[in-house]
Amino acid sequence: DGADSDHAAPTAVELAGVTRRYGETTAVDDLSLSVREGEFFTLVGPSGCGKTTTLRLIAGFEEPTQGEVRFNGESVTGVPPEDRDVGVVFQNYALFPHMTVGENVAYGLSFTDPPGGGSDEERVRELLELVALGDMMDRDPDTLSGGQQQRVAMARALAPGPDVLLLDEPMSALDAKLRERLRVQVREIQQELGITTIYVTHDQEEALAVSDRVAVMRDGTPEQVAPPRTIYREPATEFVATFVGDNNVLSGEVTAVRSTDRVDDSSDESGRSIADVTVDSTTLSVALDGDSGPEAAVSAGDRLTFCVRPERLTLGADRNALTATVTSAEFLGETTRVHLDWEGRELLLRAEDPPTGTVTVGFDPADAHTVDRQ
Ligand code: ATP
Repeated sequence: DGADSDHAAPTAVELAGVTRRYGETTAVDDLSLSVREGEFFTLVGPSGCGKTTTLRLIAGFEEPTQGEVRFNGESVTGVPPEDRDVGVVFQNYALFPHMTVGENVAYGLSFTDPPGGGSDEERVRELLELVALGDMMDRDPDTLSGGQQQRVAMARALAPGPDVLLLDEPMSALDAKLRERLRVQVREIQQELGITTIYVTHDQEEALAVSDRVAVMRDGTPEQVAPPRTIYREPATEFVATFVGDNNVLSGEVTAVRSTDRVDDSSDESGRSIADVTVDSTTLSVALDGDSGPEAAVSAGDRLTFCVRPERLTLGADRNALTATVTSAEFLGETTRVHLDWEGRELLLRAEDPPTGTVTVGFDPADAHTVDRQ
């Protein structure tokens, strides 16, 4: 045991080399990951990348073709869903229409031994208060809004006191505003209970907003598992860089690598190496900060792929200056997403007052993040 393990919570759910095939299709491909006790862990990725299958393997609705799922260090192979101590909420996990809200939640309670002390009704009331529906006990489910119904489904899933909560796109049927409110509530409930939660969504913004850690999945396996800030600021691959938020991706040949003992004060690239990367005929400076990964041991002749977030491109900047033409602009309220053409490439810029015509944009070398080296 290293010193670090003192701070990390123990592993609650682990997938070890898990593969799930359906005939010719490999839905989950040699996937390994660990979810810590009390963690809000999100699987995000495009349609078909294996998120739902992964969740179903954890719940026990599916068994791996290869590999093992472990709860608290022990294999759950062959253990049926009802014996795994998991609460599950699916997108269309319908409530029973002929039962009241309270009866729906009480149905969840019937999966467990009667809790010592308080009556079922007390417990149902507690659970409904937890999801902010304390006064809806006697209502019929079809008189509730979509968001309220989802919260009842969550209360029902939480009723047996599961160790792990599994949520599969629980809000995808709801409108954007409601989803934003509900995701805050889900996070609050998770924090209040301290329950290990594994959440599936295709919505990268949602994933960043609620999670302790995020696994960005592609083709049945995670490309990166990290806290939201790391996923956003230091994407491990070009796929992660462009799936999560907007990004400008550029590739070119390294013509020189130099060290920076003294650079201008406005930049935080001090102490890093700078690669000069020639993209077509323009040479751009890219700070290298990694001792590992694609930024380590870069040398002249390598081909580097790096990205710069649109909000890091600055109008009128003289470092790494590019002359581009505005092709279109999307007003987003707080900012405008400006599409630029730079020598046949599309670049994105964020601006409060969108420019028109020909513009010069630039970026600080420290704001470039390398995602690939060949
Ligand atoms: P979405 O966001 O669209 O729900 P997902 O990331 O959850 O996608 P999965 O539902 O896990 O993806 O599916 C992964 C792959 O496995 C897909 O190609 C899917 O068609 C396939 N697959 C999933 N379940 C089955 C099944 N029961 N039989 C055959 N193929 C399946």
